[in-house]
Amino acid sequence: MSSDSRFTPKILGIICNWCCYGGADLCGVSRFQYPPYIRLIRVMCSARVDLRHIIEAFLNGADGMFVGGCHLDDCHYITHGNYEAISMVRLCARLLEHAGLNPRRLRIEWVSAGEGIRFANVMNEFSAEIEKLGPLGKSEGLATEELHARLEKLAKLIPYVKLAKRDKLALHLRDDHEGYDGLYSADEIARLIDEAPTYHIDPEKCLACGACLRRCPVDAISGAKKQAHVIAQDLCIKCGTCLDVCPPRFGAVQKLVGKATMA
Ligand code: SF4
Ligand code: SF4
Repeated sequence: MSSDSRFTPKILGIICNWCCYGGADLCGVSRFQYPPYIRLIRVMCSARVDLRHIIEAFLNGADGMFVGGCHLDDCHYITHGNYEAISMVRLCARLLEHAGLNPRRLRIEWVSAGEGIRFANVMNEFSAEIEKLGPLGKSEGLATEELHARLEKLAKLIPYVKLAKRDKLALHLRDDHEGYDGLYSADEIARLIDEAPTYHIDPEKCLACGACLRRCPVDAISGAKKQAHVIAQDLCIKCGTCLDVCPPRFGAVQKLVGKATMA
């Protein structure tokens, strides 16, 4: 037996309560078989799955990540959350690709509550693909440290990416389902990452008015009365609020556009 055939992948599936979970349930009741190493988490809607959940799953050792929802136009909620889920997954696949990871490790599928056999087929097919790819990093030629460094960088950029792509993430292409396949291009994502800004406060210009400190959504700014404020870069989510609220007569916040490369 080859070493590859002994590989048991870790696969995490996040599936919606109303359809895919029903399909998984029916699959079990009907005794259709799929690999026991797939772990499932139930959420109320596939739209609940966030970029962060996927990146965190890979950071925590998943070799494959599955998102399951209702068929398009069959979403239980009139918000049609599965349209947002497919956009998010397509975006995430591009981000993984940009980081040098195989995007086939991430899959989204639609399974109705009456499709137990389809659920088994999807799980069997996906797990076979992940088994073939091997452990995360292997087919990518990345050592564990490098893999983690790239995923950590990606995780830090998530709020910025979500903000920058919020219009596309909210799209509902109801007459053009295939439109999601080309929604994000590799060049677009490379540009987005390369142009990720950093924000800095010029201590010579800062008059410690505290406006930025009060408005920063993640408490990334520290400072006191008569003391120039400082941005903690490891906490900053690049929202740009500090730049917007710093009074123009002070102009103390600077936005620098630099290369946030994944390598
Ligand atoms: S860019 Fe946003 S997150 Fe970063 S320091 Fe400014 S307000 Fe805070
Ligand atoms: S808003 Fe501008 S002047 Fe006021 S504390 Fe922040 S950086 Fe300094």
